[in-house]
Amino acid sequence: MRPAGDPIGELVELLSRLPSIGERTATRLAFHILKREPEYAKALGQALTDIHERVIRCEDCGNYGAEAKCKICSDIRRDPKIICVVAQVPDLVAIERSGTFRGRYHVLHGLLAPLDGVGPDRLPLDALEKRCESDVEEIVVATPLSVEGEATALYIKQVFAESKVQVSRIASGVPHGGELEFTDQVTLGRAFAGRKQI
Ligand SMILES: [Zn+2]
Repeated sequence: MRPAGDPIGELVELLSRLPSIGERTATRLAFHILKREPEYAKALGQALTDIHERVIRCEDCGNYGAEAKCKICSDIRRDPKIICVVAQVPDLVAIERSGTFRGRYHVLHGLLAPLDGVGPDRLPLDALEKRCESDVEEIVVATPLSVEGEATALYIKQVFAESKVQVSRIASGVPHGGELEFTDQVTLGRAFAGRKQI
């Protein structure tokens, strides 16, 4: 609940809802914003106001960007023959940071979770199949090594069982059940290099 007539308290409350931001950090941030020039607070507010309108999902891969096709899909230097499937955009960002992958991506924005009612129809798997009708040779499934991540990988394997597309899975080394986005670059690089066909 936002207390009435307490602008600092309101800001602290909103900031503390962000991941890894406790009340103490939120308080420090709020006073920092207050101390800086008002233009900074305005620019920050504007960036927050616009984020949902300015950021769209790439029509090919689901990555976030400012245009219909994301930077990776528009980059002709990227190898179109290999697609890396990830659960979330932060995983893509982590893989990009590791610099080990030069293909393209397919972002699921979720994972199969039958117990929570998330079936294959809720994920953009038709779009993945469609993309693979062209010159794609390999799909690397880089979903987390969790129950849902493994179930999703196996499902993708089944979808392409009869196809010429080879499906591989990133190697272990990524902490079990751990999120890719928190995995260090060297480990991620090794996980890619050691990927195995499934
Ligand atoms: Zn894209």
